[in-house]
Amino acid sequence: MIVSHPIKSLEDQAKFDMKTLPFDRAFLEELTRIYPTPFHIYDEKAIRRRIRRIREVFTWNEGFQPYFAVKAAPNPYLLKIAAEEGMGTDCSSLAELVLSEKAGLRGEKIMFTSNNTPASEYAAAKKLDAIINLDDISHIDFLERTLGQLPERISIRYNPGPLRQIIGQAGGIIGNPEDAKYGFTREQTMEGYKILKDRGVKRFGLHTMVASNQLEERCFVDTAWMLFDLVLDLYEKHGVQMEMVNLGGGVGIPYRPEDKPFDFDMMGQAIQDVYEEMIRPTVLHPLKICTEYGRCVTGPFGCLVTRAIHRKNIYKKYVGVDSCMANLMRPALYGAYHHITVAGKEENAEPREVVDVVGSLCENNDKFAIDRELPVIEIGDLLVIHDTGAHGHAMGFQYNGKLRSAELLLCEDGTVKQIRRAETLDDYFATLDFSDL
Ligand SMILES: *Cc1c(COP(=O)(O)O)cnc(C)c1O
Repeated sequence: MIVSHPIKSLEDQAKFDMKTLPFDRAFLEELTRIYPTPFHIYDEKAIRRRIRRIREVFTWNEGFQPYFAVKAAPNPYLLKIAAEEGMGTDCSSLAELVLSEKAGLRGEKIMFTSNNTPASEYAAAKKLDAIINLDDISHIDFLERTLGQLPERISIRYNPGPLRQIIGQAGGIIGNPEDAKYGFTREQTMEGYKILKDRGVKRFGLHTMVASNQLEERCFVDTAWMLFDLVLDLYEKHGVQMEMVNLGGGVGIPYRPEDKPFDFDMMGQAIQDVYEEMIRPTVLHPLKICTEYGRCVTGPFGCLVTRAIHRKNIYKKYVGVDSCMANLMRPALYGAYHHITVAGKEENAEPREVVDVVGSLCENNDKFAIDRELPVIEIGDLLVIHDTGAHGHAMGFQYNGKLRSAELLLCEDGTVKQIRRAETLDDYFATLDFSDL
């Protein structure tokens, strides 16, 4: 396998732009007069630049199609930006299909990768002429029954199981596809295409998704190798002329200041090398490559702005903010690190103290940071919680009567637009009928 030392490019350090953007205290204070805290704010320019970067490293592949994983940031304004930059969408629910349609997408610009799929969602995907990516061999019959006949083009989600283990940065195994509920086994994949071919399907795609928040470029090169190998095998054994290979999502972002940025150049170049060796000399060339990144497209280019409203000193020191895990669940859910800066205070400003930064939800894991050394925070200070542009607002919930915040967009022209309002109590009560009490 090709491994090279990652080079830090300026583009890849775009996340640090977020820390030095016009996010000074005066700007944020002005903003909060119009849009009260908390809110997530996204940087349009940086998102566009990131998408161009992704496309750039795959220019050698003529048919290259990047999809945006809608679940990372399901806001139609963000989807429209992605669509304007040539991205399609990766959807796995009816709502995500509807959002894609609203953003002006249909046909091969939508890939529908669901699992345990209700019939109604396959029907909705077909209506938009999306590429349907099957999650299980039994879904071949299920889809045929649901739609009356199989679509002309179909993709299969491959789960390599014990054939593939994902090695983390520290060298340990972090993922075992054998434990994942998704996809076809290798044997089923071979059989699946044969069945599809026998039933008249003409155009074929192959998909896998084995990584999550992975900063090792090598992992995606291995995935490309694994899929190319399978594609060649399928051609040899069953004469399947694969048209498209989707490498999945999972490109990581440097959440911690000391994390290395992901080297897109290195990955693109290494995948090209594998392609040139394995695919170009064969009848399978040209083979279209697709990706379905979410996190690395919007993640570093969004942040949660929240205000310190209380301080509390008991056995530990706490800073209480006006948002909670309902607005950003990653730290509470899996101990994820999100960098925090204090508007108007340098990162290393003195005096400093070690605190837990907490929300107001009645769960003790409702903490944005634990034992974090920060400049001393006073009540009224604005805190910026970084890298919330993907799987941030999207994972919001209403447990404990907590409401989801607004989403703002820092547009390319420097203006700020609200792209989703904050929820109100009326939204929370919208499904209740109090009149019959
Ligand atoms: C979640 C998901 C993605 C996006 O993952 P990121 O880590 O955000 O890049 C892509 N494809 C599928 C099938 C997913 O479930």
